[in-house]
Amino acid sequence: MNIQENKNTVFAAVEAATQEANCPKNSVSVIAVTKYVDSSLAKELVKAGVQHIGENRVDKFLDKYQALSSENVTWHLIGSLQRRKVKEVINYVDYFHALDSVKLAEEIHKRAAKPVKCFLQVNVSGEESKHGFSVDEIDAALEAMLHLDKVELVGLMTMAPFEASHEELDAIFSKTEKLRKELAARKIPHMPFTELSMGMSGDFTEAIENGSTFVRIGTAFFR
Ligand SMILES: *Cc1c(COP(=O)(O)O)cnc(C)c1O
Repeated sequence: MNIQENKNTVFAAVEAATQEANCPKNSVSVIAVTKYVDSSLAKELVKAGVQHIGENRVDKFLDKYQALSSENVTWHLIGSLQRRKVKEVINYVDYFHALDSVKLAEEIHKRAAKPVKCFLQVNVSGEESKHGFSVDEIDAALEAMLHLDKVELVGLMTMAPFEASHEELDAIFSKTEKLRKELAARKIPHMPFTELSMGMSGDFTEAIENGSTFVRIGTAFFR
């Protein structure tokens, strides 16, 4: 496994998809998801030029955060977060990608020392197993979060089913982008909804074609 080569390959593929989508150069941020590897490999990635690191579990997030404290890293917590763990981690998180309940938003607001950039996780595919708000739950959720000004809703996050076809991916990602635009147009304080967190190793091309601004890529860095 050659980390520098893999980094170059992934970034080139993301840039190619970005160009293909007629989006400006460097408009898509690549989050390297390091949940499969230890801190030394994560550090190698940063040395190879990766800025954004993502972890899906609190304990592993904190391990990497400590081990890479001397590096210039933007930290992403991408997995579901239990309310009781918010206080352990939230003040080290630059972006939280899996906001899936109002109660969790309330806990973040209570524990955060300053506003935290959060993605509202939405389940547009309607798949039972997926976390996140369904489309018809969003209005009430935003209403309930109006006073939680330390929860900065920068955008929407979604995950497509693992086995989705190209057409299904297009449908899910374009629906998410359409929803994001509608929410952004409302211009609600601390809810800019300018960003989209979607796309992983297997589907980032389709995600970028549909307006993603943050892709979360794990496997492709470590083969
Ligand atoms: C693991 C994970 C990823 C990365 O998936 P790959 O298929 O390995 O690229 C992205 N997002 C979340 C929430 C994850 O847990």
